[in-house]
Amino acid sequence: MAKGLDKHRARQDSLSWFGKDLARRASSCCELCEASGVKLVTHEVEPVPVEPEFERCILICEDCQQQLLNPKRVQADHWRLLGRAVWSTEPAVQVVAVRMARQLATRYDWAQEILDPLFLDPEVEQWVDNP
Ligand SMILES: [Zn+2]
Repeated sequence: MAKGLDKHRARQDSLSWFGKDLARRASSCCELCEASGVKLVTHEVEPVPVEPEFERCILICEDCQQQLLNPKRVQADHWRLLGRAVWSTEPAVQVVAVRMARQLATRYDWAQEILDPLFLDPEVEQWVDNP
C-alpha cells in the first residue's frame, strides 16, 4: 500500500511542478472555457501516461474538470466557447476540446458547426480516437 501511496505522491509532485508552466501557457485562464479568476486545476489527458508528461496536461477550471470526469453532468451551454479550444495549438487542449465537441455534436447543431471547418493533424486525430 505504502508504495502505491508514494507513487501517487510523486505524481502529484510532478503535476504541481507543471502547474506554474501551465499557468504561463494558459495565461491563467481555463484552457477550455477561458474562465479567468477561478481556481484552475491540472488535468491529465487520457490515455494517462505512466509518468506524468507536461504535453499531456491541460490547465482547466473545476467546472470543466467535473464535467469531463462525469459525462452525465455535462451542461452543453458551458461548452459554447469550445469553438476556440478546438483550434488550440496545444494538442492536449485540442484533443479534449474535440472529444467534447464530438460528444455534444450528437445532440447539438452548434457543436457540429464547430467541428465542420476543423482540420486535425493525423497525430491529434489518433490521440482523439484513443482515449
Ligand atoms: Zn473551464
